[in-house]
Amino acid sequence: MAKVIIIGAGGVGSVVAHKCAKHPEVFTEIVIASRTRSKCDALAAAIDAPNISTDSVDADSVAQLEELFRRHKPDMVINVALPYQDLTIMEACLSCGVNYLDTANYEPKDVAHFEYSWQWAYRERFEKAGLTAILGCGFDPGVSGVFTAYAAKHWFSEMEYLDIVDCNAGNHGKAFATNFNPEINIREITQNGRYYEDGKWVTTKPLEIHRTLTYPNIGGRDSYLLYHEELESLVLNYPTIKRARFWMTFGQEYLTHLRVIQDIGMARIDEVDYNGTKIVPLQFLKAVLPNPQDLGKNYTGETSIGCRISGKGKDGEPMTYYIYNNCSHHEAYLETGMQAVSYTTGVPAMVGAMMFLTGKWNKPGVHNVEEFDPDPFLAALAENGLPWHEIVNQDLELD
Ligand code: NDP
Repeated sequence: MAKVIIIGAGGVGSVVAHKCAKHPEVFTEIVIASRTRSKCDALAAAIDAPNISTDSVDADSVAQLEELFRRHKPDMVINVALPYQDLTIMEACLSCGVNYLDTANYEPKDVAHFEYSWQWAYRERFEKAGLTAILGCGFDPGVSGVFTAYAAKHWFSEMEYLDIVDCNAGNHGKAFATNFNPEINIREITQNGRYYEDGKWVTTKPLEIHRTLTYPNIGGRDSYLLYHEELESLVLNYPTIKRARFWMTFGQEYLTHLRVIQDIGMARIDEVDYNGTKIVPLQFLKAVLPNPQDLGKNYTGETSIGCRISGKGKDGEPMTYYIYNNCSHHEAYLETGMQAVSYTTGVPAMVGAMMFLTGKWNKPGVHNVEEFDPDPFLAALAENGLPWHEIVNQDLELD
């Protein structure tokens, strides 16, 4: 018997709500709350389950969140609003005794910079309050960390080289669109790249390092080295890792648009004066770009996200290991109305909440996903639409 509040009714929130509604034995009551209540109402109407209600909240305001939590008394909040709201929601969770889960680490609005330190600073307070906070429980971060934990538990005595590989081989038919919130997405991609090697972080220019990687059922795709948040916790939690990198595929058309957007100043996140009104160019751009939630209908192809790991196996011998999931945009759309990028984020968020609420991932404090037992999570992930596969001792293409 558990009540959850889902904050955010965008692409990811839609998938989380659809998936929670399929498990009334775990999520006995579901509240969808977001800034724009009409979106929550439309989502609740589309799901049409008796245990869903809606509400509105500005999650930038701790006071509003506290009022929402006191009214509904949820056991857990699934935060799928934007990374800007992580800390306000965590504060309200502490004052109202609510457990917490999110899919992206905190980022201040005025600096395109993300790191875990802001959220890790809450560890002691959550622990003392007997509350659990699960950080970064989407696909990457999220399943990427659980895959790594699974590899450590079942395959390796020492993991040495970790490459997280994220391919979207889909086609939505638009000249340019982002697959999740455009503001967050463009801020992430236009940052410097960064990877971990021999105990140090190495910084690269944005998208400077790239190579062609082969993805299962897809083939070769241009893959670019990015900094991604799960690298920060994984190298701490697995100190034998000598090098950790993250790769994401982009098509040339996408990169050309991105370059133009930057060159003409539309990726700026500072305020500019437009006819006496202050606007942030990137936020304005978001308003005119296709809404990621509307991409699903004609989306073909699939995503393929996984971890390629090499090191010493349980027997001490060198080995390589690749664990991944492929997800079809069209099948995700048929089930939830959303494309595979929202789907692959929303399903793990639901599964993470299910793990907590069924007592499998209940550990007071603030934790990254790899700190929990990966086995029940991966079993539930496969049962809920994201089956995964393993390949042992094949060439990982990544020296
Ligand atoms: P969307 O922009 O589609 O949805 C965001 C939702 O949050 C909207 O409903 C929006 O409301 C709401 N929201 C924004 N600000 C506030 C606020 N101040 N108060 C209340 N609600 C607010 O984003 P996505 O669904 O694509 O992404 C959701 C999250 O998932 C993001 O944090 C993103 O970084 C993360 N993500 C994680 C991935 C992973 O693999 N780990 C992959 C993809 C995304 P409104 O409609 O009014 O704007």
